[in-house]
Amino acid sequence: MHVRSDEVIRNTEVMDEPTKWHAETLAIVAGRAPQPGGPFNVPPTFASTYRDGGAIGYGRWGNPTWSAFEEALGELEGGHCVSFASGLAAVSAMLTSLPLATTVVYPSNGYNGTRGLLERLVKEGRLHTRAVDVVDTSEVLGALDGADVLWLESPTNPLLGVADLPTILRAARDAGVIAVVDNTFATPMLQQPLALGATAVVHSATKYIGGHSDLLMGAVVVSDAGLRDELVEWRTMHGAIPGVMEAYLALRGLRTLPVRFARQQRTAAELAERLDDHRHVVRVRYPGLVTDPGFERASTQLGGFGAMLSFEVNDAHHADRVVELLRLIVGGTSLGGVESTIDRRGRWKGEELVPEGLLRLSVGLEHPADLWADLDDALNGAFAHSS
Ligand SMILES: *Cc1c(COP(=O)(O)O)cnc(C)c1O
Repeated sequence: MHVRSDEVIRNTEVMDEPTKWHAETLAIVAGRAPQPGGPFNVPPTFASTYRDGGAIGYGRWGNPTWSAFEEALGELEGGHCVSFASGLAAVSAMLTSLPLATTVVYPSNGYNGTRGLLERLVKEGRLHTRAVDVVDTSEVLGALDGADVLWLESPTNPLLGVADLPTILRAARDAGVIAVVDNTFATPMLQQPLALGATAVVHSATKYIGGHSDLLMGAVVVSDAGLRDELVEWRTMHGAIPGVMEAYLALRGLRTLPVRFARQQRTAAELAERLDDHRHVVRVRYPGLVTDPGFERASTQLGGFGAMLSFEVNDAHHADRVVELLRLIVGGTSLGGVESTIDRRGRWKGEELVPEGLLRLSVGLEHPADLWADLDDALNGAFAHSS
């Protein structure tokens, strides 16, 4: 038994103000339409233009459906939320608004879209960067000297490394470095980085928050109301606004995030343990395995171990064969939906640090026994003539 499979969600107390509700409750009650006689949910408001005399005026400046989503995610993260057209638009709002010649410390094996944007900004002569392995705390702390911004991801994509966020965020604050945490993988169900001293939290709501693989959306959550206003101004000027229907669906998804995530991570723990014992699997990376290098940190820092795991077979050819032979689990590059998806990350440009036989699995809501049968069959089939 390598997994503490009783571990579902522990730290769901999000904040003391304005309520003492748990995350499960906040996800249900936040961002509601309060008018007597009105609908329970804030309906999608399809409007480019509003009649004079109201609060909004024009569709790029605001929308009641965005506001409902922002209120709910803001309450879950414990800050002020600004929504964007995609996760990368949210990342872009943070990175492209930095002053010229800012130095950004960032994860060498983090999300490749963020790394690609940083590389571009460096090439344009706008930023300086320093890549670090965020799992190596002394390397991160060493890189803070003279830096302006620290960009973090934990657990990392796709190696599932766990950074010592409490130590790193405290050090960043002491050094006067702005810390941004991409919380897409952990979600507010596992950690709330603002409470640990992060300046901003970034989300791809496309993933777990939307949760149904049917929309793209992003968000930045900050503690400081002035910074929130600056982000709204950036969004208005750059036009990186979410669609109305997307915001409506994302909030609908967020309402079930706690229950989806709890079930998905329980299944992930079970699959990680079984994969770890499989004869064709070379290595499993899941912070919930007691043998995983991230286990100790994850146990103390996170409210659970998440629903992403990666496992390695001997080479790219066999990994591709596994994906071909799967009948239930879908080959595809995104994650966080109700359906389990698998991706050999090494096939993508910019993922040269990832072992070529590594398969990243986003665990969905199917029955764990069906998922295991699918994985076991595909693994055995892929190696049938070569072992
Ligand atoms: C997908 C993803 C993004 C980008 O989000 P989009 O919604 O695809 O633009 C950013 N960070 C992480 C960790 C992601 O997985």
